[in-house]
Amino acid sequence: MTTSTKRTRSTAPVGQFSDAKRARMLCAVQRDTPSKAGLFRRIYAGKASPRDVIKAQCLHCCWLEEAAIRECTATECPLWDFRPYQRERAT
Ligand code: SF4
Repeated sequence: MTTSTKRTRSTAPVGQFSDAKRARMLCAVQRDTPSKAGLFRRIYAGKASPRDVIKAQCLHCCWLEEAAIRECTATECPLWDFRPYQRERAT
């Protein structure tokens, strides 16, 4: 006998702040790193790629600090090989 285990993804409309935790996170991103707000909006709207989600998770983990992600030493983290910002930006 099989049971249906259909998984659904929350796509809370962030603009309406229907989820308090997401609203707080989006406010923090908007305040501290406004250039990343679109990334979080896409994710909360269910319109992001897996790569976007990895980037956002690393940003969330490192308090939105790109340098901290670049210098992350948590090699045991399943995302470590896929984390963004592994190379310094050319100036
Ligand atoms: S790879 Fe590093 S920065 Fe990214 S989620 Fe894992 S521990 Fe955090």
